[in-house]
Amino acid sequence: MDCLFCKIVAGEIPSHKVYEDEFVYAFLDIFPCSEGHTIVLPKKHFDRFTDMEGKDASALFTSVNKISKVLENTLKLEGMNVGINNGEIAGQTVPHVHVHIIPRRAGDGEGNMHTIVELNPSTDNLPELAKTISKSFD
Ligand code: AMP
Ligand code: ZN
Repeated sequence: MDCLFCKIVAGEIPSHKVYEDEFVYAFLDIFPCSEGHTIVLPKKHFDRFTDMEGKDASALFTSVNKISKVLENTLKLEGMNVGINNGEIAGQTVPHVHVHIIPRRAGDGEGNMHTIVELNPSTDNLPELAKTISKSFD
């Protein structure tokens, strides 16, 4: 498959690897948002997070949790943003699921995830919206 991240996992394209286990491969982002910006991906190819089954997502996030703790301790971080750009509309540029771990430090701009989209839609329909979504789990 012609996938950049599959090629990184296979060692066909070099990367600054920080961790690898049976399920995931983690390396430093080549265009880091902050020092230590790390990408964690499942070795198995899925285009999007919503293409994954629960067991694969669990394995991915178990490793993300482990790597986040190591980054926190090693880089002496007070915090980080952990997230996925899921789909092109959400900013995903490489169509192989990956989790960004972006270290945060005092004075770095202080924006949080809420600053990505600030449309502030009406909250009048929250009851119907919650009902519509919750019904879909049945
Ligand atoms: P996304 O926009 O969520 O799809 O993120 C893709 C990320 O991959 C971006 O942050 C890029 O900087 C990063 N990236 C692209 N190519 C490479 C590469 N060869 N090695 C490391 N990181 C890369
Ligand atoms: Zn891939």
